[in-house]
Amino acid sequence: MSEVALETLLCRRCGAPLQVGPGAKFVTCGHCGSSLRVERSESAAWTELTERTERLEEKVERMDRRSELADLDREWERTRKSLMIRGKGVRESEPSVFGGVMVLAIGVVGAIFAASMGAQAGFPALVGIGFPLAFAGFGIFAAVSQFANAAKWREAERRYRRRRAELELDRGEPGECR
Ligand SMILES: [Zn+2]
Repeated sequence: MSEVALETLLCRRCGAPLQVGPGAKFVTCGHCGSSLRVERSESAAWTELTERTERLEEKVERMDRRSELADLDREWERTRKSLMIRGKGVRESEPSVFGGVMVLAIGVVGAIFAASMGAQAGFPALVGIGFPLAFAGFGIFAAVSQFANAAKWREAERRYRRRRAELELDRGEPGECR
């Protein structure tokens, strides 16, 4: 039987062994699917990625990074929305320490106001104390939750900015417009 001398070369990309016929100029890796060019010197043969494969790889990498950025932006947007303060007649705003102090102040002023009204009107003790306590309680609760959300916000924003900067940094795409 006639033996065709097959050479065994390694895939440039994934290292899988490839059987290549003597005169073959191109080969497709059966393992990773790369299309490869067979290079020969007098004493050796090896494979190189074809330009097409390289371009394809670059493109895939770029798309991966772009979708990672988009995921990151969406995630941050979700976090932002979940921490935003909103309500009827309240302008949507970021939670802040200042905002927390403000609601606490409103609660305290409301409590004092309710207490003095109650005293003037001679309300029974339960009402006279209950209303001011309710105001104060509301103020403290709203303030504490706003302080906590403000801290979460700062932390999430820091993480988001850092990760985004990292992604943008290794984007390095010369010649890419847009
Ligand atoms: Zn391969």
